[in-house]
Amino acid sequence: MLDPVPEPGPARGLTTLSDDEALFRHAVFEFADREIRPHVRDMDEQAVIPRQLIDTLFDLGVMGIEIPEALGGAGASFFHAVLAVEALSRVDPSIAVLVDVQNTLVINALLRWGAEDVQRRYLPRLAASTVGAYALSEAGSGSDAFALATRASETADGFALNGRKLWITNAVEAGLFIVFATVDPEAGHRGITAFLVERDAPGFTVGRKEDKLGIRASSTCELLFEDCRVPRESVLGEIGKGYRVAIETLNEGRIGIGAQMAGLAQGALDHAIQYTKERRQFGKAIADFQAVQFQLARAATELEAARLMVYNAARLRDAGEPFVKEAAMCKLLSSEVAERVTSLAVNLYGGYGFVKDYPVEKLYRDAKIGQIYEGASNLQLQTIAKQILN
Ligand SMILES: Cc1cc2nc3c(=O)[nH]c(=O)nc-3n(C[C@H](O)[C@H](O)[C@H](O)COP(=O)(O)OP(=O)(O)OC[C@H]3O[C@@H](n4cnc5c(N)ncnc54)[C@H](O)[C@@H]3O)c2cc1C
Repeated sequence: MLDPVPEPGPARGLTTLSDDEALFRHAVFEFADREIRPHVRDMDEQAVIPRQLIDTLFDLGVMGIEIPEALGGAGASFFHAVLAVEALSRVDPSIAVLVDVQNTLVINALLRWGAEDVQRRYLPRLAASTVGAYALSEAGSGSDAFALATRASETADGFALNGRKLWITNAVEAGLFIVFATVDPEAGHRGITAFLVERDAPGFTVGRKEDKLGIRASSTCELLFEDCRVPRESVLGEIGKGYRVAIETLNEGRIGIGAQMAGLAQGALDHAIQYTKERRQFGKAIADFQAVQFQLARAATELEAARLMVYNAARLRDAGEPFVKEAAMCKLLSSEVAERVTSLAVNLYGGYGFVKDYPVEKLYRDAKIGQIYEGASNLQLQTIAKQILN
């Protein structure tokens, strides 16, 4: 006998979460609200993330979301990582990017490209206490990332790295760095190789920390490699295949930045809604003016569109379906929406929006990075154009 056709279930929205996903996002947001929010202003002013706070992120389980449980991780999906980044960013986009780089770039690259022994060596550490960083950009190669000049020369038992990386997120906190270097500058992108470099590798130093406009608590540093010796086993993936490691992880990573920007915009909108209901002018709350209501309504609408695109890209990635165009689109749109929504929030706070005593000024500064890192907006447009004109 044929199985009966299942009754159609209730229609579900595209942003509807499973019980497990909803609980997870709620738990991360509650944590952020309780444990991170009280420190946000200090962290921004002092441009640091206290190690104690990072330890609590490990305890919460958000530093190894996709790492299998057998290796100490949460054994969850990429979508969960996106939910965590979004929920954290609603409170602090600097903490969100620390968690984002850890999960969507570093752990993601190890899960996809690491041999079993490499995974066994590094993933339990990353799940328990080690922060990771991802070092591709250099002073002369940003958008044109594969024009990198850091050189890896073969030695008797491994490689010697020489060169400098710039703009490396998590560099102050990280114990493990994925570093891209070329084994053959003549070979173009086919010389690029990914290496796993320990913080204490001889010849490796973390250099100057940047003093930034936004996401100030997130560390961004130069890395220096002076005859830095790494063993042969430190190659991640294959020699000469580093460009694939980079492209594939960054395609996924930019969904995480989309989530960071959607979360940030939600944080700004939360503040704007609360403030406009409280602030009174002309004898009533400014939220009672239709002009203000319409501005908030437009912001909420744009944010909903951005979130839908982020969730869709992440779900496609988890389903093993093509997602490159959707990932580029979600980062492009979310970062623009974040800039617009935070700008509106500053406007709606009036003079109070322009001073540091209130939270929206910081979110406005934090939003700007979304259009720059993990592929500037023009590069996202280039990716989308390539896909639709193909
Ligand atoms: C806070 C911060 C954190 C970062 N974290 C990391 C990290 O952890 N790891 C890492 O490897 N890198 C990191 N980066 C580097 C970041 O990814 C680059 O800054 C970014 O890719 C842009 O490169 P660029 O700065 O060299 O700008 P450029 O490539 O010089 O671009 C400048 C402008 O030119 C435009 N442009 C460039 N090429 C084209 C083109 N072909 N067509 C049209 N327009 C173009 C761009 O859109 C941009 O507006 C970080 C940067 C910052 C600021």
